[in-house]
This record gives sequence, structure tokens and C-alpha cells, in this order.
Amino acid sequence: MKMKKIAGLFFVIFWALYLSGCSMFPAGPQPSDVNHWQVGTSAGRLGRLTENQLAQLKQAGFDCIEIGLDRIRSADDFAAKIEQARQLQQSAQITGIKIWSIHIPYGRDIDISLCDPANREKALEEVSRMISLCEYIKPEKLVIHASFEPVPENERAQRFEACKESLAVLVKTAAVYNARLTVECLPRTCLGNTSSEILDLINAIDGLEVCCDVNHLLQETPQEFIKRVGSPITTLHISDYDGVDERHWLPGQGIINWNNVLDSLVNIEYQGPFMFESAGTAREKIEVWNKLKTDYLLSVDK
Ligand SMILES: [Zn+2]
Repeated sequence: MKMKKIAGLFFVIFWALYLSGCSMFPAGPQPSDVNHWQVGTSAGRLGRLTENQLAQLKQAGFDCIEIGLDRIRSADDFAAKIEQARQLQQSAQITGIKIWSIHIPYGRDIDISLCDPANREKALEEVSRMISLCEYIKPEKLVIHASFEPVPENERAQRFEACKESLAVLVKTAAVYNARLTVECLPRTCLGNTSSEILDLINAIDGLEVCCDVNHLLQETPQEFIKRVGSPITTLHISDYDGVDERHWLPGQGIINWNNVLDSLVNIEYQGPFMFESAGTAREKIEVWNKLKTDYLLSVDK
């Protein structure tokens, strides 16, 4: 009898908490989550970004940036980059802007999917040196391309396997510096040009994350890609396109349905910044971001 009373009491408490929307029962992803996202932009390369430029980006409304790197051609060059990296981190601290990510360069001879072991090893060595700059720059993410292009169809499977081996090594190198390696979805014949190929890579490699470049998807819509790949997407490249090839236009100038893109990101509980990699001035990007947010919140409110 006593047990029944206790069980009844628990039942009443359970429903009272449930109906009051108690945080014991989290509501799940909400459209208003977009209000908590940071906003960022790609902002030039290491060695060419001045403190003044960082201050201007901060003033325009950006929280964080992605930087690019030039190739490392010699030991002296590497030493110079270390000095530039120290200076950049100092400028970032002074101006209050975060260096969220570093984009690893890509090219014919810096391709982690090369089949020739000696050439691939050379590429891996250079990329590893670049990753070691994280000691000074301290980014959260590194963005890498799975291959250069074109990738001939008859080489694709072999190149894919070589790429997996490389990514497995580089994920570990990045982890040494507390950075996460993200593989970017790419257009045309590049490796990683569909959600299926990206899923194949992340399922094969522990700790590998994804950079979703919404203007690189030529075989599916960005929202389809985001829905399929899900939470491993931890950073973005935001721009618009015509669906035919990458264009890097300012959002709103192409065919992307931004309400659907924002909704799919909310649904995977995306936590990273809304990172522009597009044409347009700092002011235009911030204005566009505010408009995309407002339009999306209005659309889900109807
Ligand atoms: Zn990109």
C-alpha cells in the first residue's frame, strides 16, 4: 500500500515537471538557437593580416575568423611563419577576435590523396609542419581538402584509400595541438564531393570532423548534405552559388534556400560559427547574416 502511494507521488511529480517544461526534459533544438551562433569570416593569410584589419573585423561585428596559409618552401620560411603565427595570436588577443580555423593550402603537389608513396609523404610532411603552427595560433579547427583535382575516375578508389590513410595520420597530428581536423566537402571530381563520400571518410577515421561548404555541393542541396552528415559538421564555409559550380557569392545572390539551410543546421544542433567564405565587405556580410536570421525566425514563426 505504502509503495503504491510513493509510486503515485512520483507520477504526480513527473507530470508536474513535464508540464512546467522543467529543464529535466530538454526541449531539443530550437530555431532561436541561431541567436547564439557566433559569426565569422575568412580573412586572408598568415603574414598578411594586420592588427588593424582584425580590429576592423571585430568592430564590424565578427566574433572569429578563418585564416589561410601560404606554402612552406624552406626551413627559413617555416621559421618566419612561426614568428608571424606568434604575432597573429597576440593581435587576436589584443583585438578580441578568435582565430577559429586555419585553411590548409591545396595544390597539385600538396595533395594528401596522391598514390605515389614518396610524393604523398612529402605532402604529409608539409601539412604536418603547417599543423604544428597551431601551437602558436591555437585554432579550434583545421580545414583540409581530401584531394586536388581532377581525380580521374579510374584512380578514384585508390586515391580514396590513400586519402584515408593520410587523414588518419593528420587527425592525430592535429590532436597534439588540441585542434580538430575537418575535411571539406568539395565540388566537381574532387574527393569528398557528396555526402556519401564524406560519410565514408568520417566513418573510417576516428575524430575526423566536417567543414560544410554550402556552395560546393553540386549533386545534392546543402540541406540534404547537412541532414545526412549530421553532427560531425563542426564548421562551415558560407556563400551562395548557382548550383552549377562554386561561385562564393554573398548569400541571397544565388539559389540556396537559406531558411532550409539554417533549419537543417539547427536540427543537427550545430554549435560552430556561421563562417563566411564569400564575396562582399565585412559590413555586407554582417547585414546579410542579420537578415538570414530574421527571415528564418519569421518563417518558423508562421
Ligand atoms: Zn570552402
